[in-house]
Amino acid sequence: MDAIGERIAALNERVRNLKANDLYFLQLPSSALDGPWVTIADRRMLMMASYSYLGLIGHPDIARAAHAATDRFGTGTHGVRLGAGTLPIHRELEETIARFKGAQDAVAYSSGYVTNLSVISTLVGRDDAVISDKINHASIVDGCLLSRANFLRFKHNDMADLERALIKAGSVAKLVVVDAVFSMDGDVINLPEVSRLCKQYGAWLMVDEAHSLGVLGKTGRGIEEHFGLPPDTVDIKMGTLSKTIPSVGGYVAGQQDLITYLKHVSRAYIFSAALPPASAAAAKAAFEVIEREPWRAEKLHHVDRLFLNGLKSLGFDTLRSETAIVPLIMGDDDRAFTMTRLCHREDVFALPVVSPAVPVGLSRLRATVTAAHEPEHVTRALDVFEKAGRAIGVI
Ligand SMILES: *Cc1c(COP(=O)(O)O)cnc(C)c1O
Repeated sequence: MDAIGERIAALNERVRNLKANDLYFLQLPSSALDGPWVTIADRRMLMMASYSYLGLIGHPDIARAAHAATDRFGTGTHGVRLGAGTLPIHRELEETIARFKGAQDAVAYSSGYVTNLSVISTLVGRDDAVISDKINHASIVDGCLLSRANFLRFKHNDMADLERALIKAGSVAKLVVVDAVFSMDGDVINLPEVSRLCKQYGAWLMVDEAHSLGVLGKTGRGIEEHFGLPPDTVDIKMGTLSKTIPSVGGYVAGQQDLITYLKHVSRAYIFSAALPPASAAAAKAAFEVIEREPWRAEKLHHVDRLFLNGLKSLGFDTLRSETAIVPLIMGDDDRAFTMTRLCHREDVFALPVVSPAVPVGLSRLRATVTAAHEPEHVTRALDVFEKAGRAIGVI
């Protein structure tokens, strides 16, 4: 067999083995919108694996906006944004994002993944340097590789190592890219220090807010609000419209000139179709709901404190998580899989993360809470995690 065929066969073998041992937890179709509950394979389970941090999926105002946009504009667009694909709803969405993020303007793309790929590779090229935290999201890594800039990585959230990379990059154009909240560990980037170093060494700063929009800050405005920094601390404020915002798409907010530049140079804006009207309208309506219903962010903070403190007092290793994303470290893959199965048997739905997604020895159950959870749901999850954790011997 040729090399490509062998790779495909090896992966298929691994999937078959996991399925045969009842250890395959991926791509399970979930049905029915039901607050903090989810129905999987006909079982109603407590959802502890959602990215809908403010519980906005199914919000009536958002659904209504999507319907109205479909009635008015249909289901597609006339092509790419730079051409005939721009609709009034796209501009309204971008203005809403800019207002929410305290920026001059914003640009929307068709996904968060595409946003990182396109924006990073537009801003830096062959003779430049791009500097990235070691555990940044795959879409950032792919954007850095695509840019063909000198790709320097620094130890996770290690400011001395970031400074070393900035010095090593030399006097070329420099872009530093970090996640605000790290998607596997749930910890928060040291933004005050990253920002100070970027200024000192003349680097541009891009922050991915996929897991901090709606999550960090008293009113959910994100990483700058969390640290009490002015909204112009981050040059390139990137986020997704598919997590807290229950739609699809990605965005960058920033200075007017930056946005104009991206809208004429970034290839995903020039060569890929505009967001469908329903998605753009849903995203805009979701930002407005967050502005109108500030209790959601406050409730999330309340339940994420309960959850994290509960896990810590049970003795779980939760790394440095301080957000709605909490890793429960299990060690090897087998333990992570067993933990998952025990929890699912008790109708608590969280998912395992194993190598190569995380380092060997740090396999985990990854659990999230949202504003759709009540304190009693958190208590229920903690009870199940405690029982399973004791059975496995991690606590
Ligand atoms: C999910 C995610 C993305 C990609 O966003 P999509 O809109 O799903 O393509 C980018 N960055 C981070 C950190 C993410 O977690």
